[in-house]
Amino acid sequence: MKAVGLHPDVFVVTSRLWQTTCTLVKSGEEAFCVDSPILPDELELLPAVAAQAGFRVVGCLATHADWDHVLGRYAFPEAPLGMAESSAGRLRNEPGAAQRDLRDFDEEWYVERPFPLALPASQSLPVPGRCGIGERELELHPADGHTMDGMALWVPWAGVLICGDYVSPVEIPWISPGGSISAYLATLARLEPLVEQATHVVPGHGGVMDGERAAAILREDRAYLNALAESGVDAPLPEARRGGAMRKIHAENAARLRPTAAT
Ligand SMILES: [Zn+2]
Repeated sequence: MKAVGLHPDVFVVTSRLWQTTCTLVKSGEEAFCVDSPILPDELELLPAVAAQAGFRVVGCLATHADWDHVLGRYAFPEAPLGMAESSAGRLRNEPGAAQRDLRDFDEEWYVERPFPLALPASQSLPVPGRCGIGERELELHPADGHTMDGMALWVPWAGVLICGDYVSPVEIPWISPGGSISAYLATLARLEPLVEQATHVVPGHGGVMDGERAAAILREDRAYLNALAESGVDAPLPEARRGGAMRKIHAENAARLRPTAAT
């Protein structure tokens, strides 16, 4: 697990799996853990990494309700989990889904966890809106399209955008069940001005980027989605994201496209 400091108040750890990112943000005496690494040893190490950096984690946040982003409470079992209302609603409406997906993953890879994932009623955050931390506030922006739920977090005093599963240098746009091309494009349009003024952009998967590089990825994502809407499976993939795993996601995206869907 790699840890990179972006600002005295922000650092990112990256899971060995899927380059999933987990961002720690602090203000004064309070810190939040946004999203999560995936492997048990990474989650076990996280509290010590946070403490060593002087971050006192009082809450976990998740950019969306996919199982690989909601594991923070393995590291901070006492901390409440805050999510966009859309994500909290998704957890309510699909009880046990995240736990089931995690179990399937763990079974496939023979991963052992110290205890089953508990996701007690999460705290709904106002999105768009703000969320207090120490004496400052995080800005919360709607980010749906990858799934039906989600939010991006803007850390104004650090110029850091934590965007969830959008603008990834390693993953093409992934339209999961419940997501849509039109919602995804709307999210990209919403994120664009933030990306452009960001010092650092933290994608849900992949390395941290400066604003310029992230803006270039965002434009590639938009071009891919427009081509996907128009040509389905024939749409070209972004140049640097054409490997086998990406072609699989692309096939899934194309299969999910209904010809009647307005985009
Ligand atoms: Zn993800």
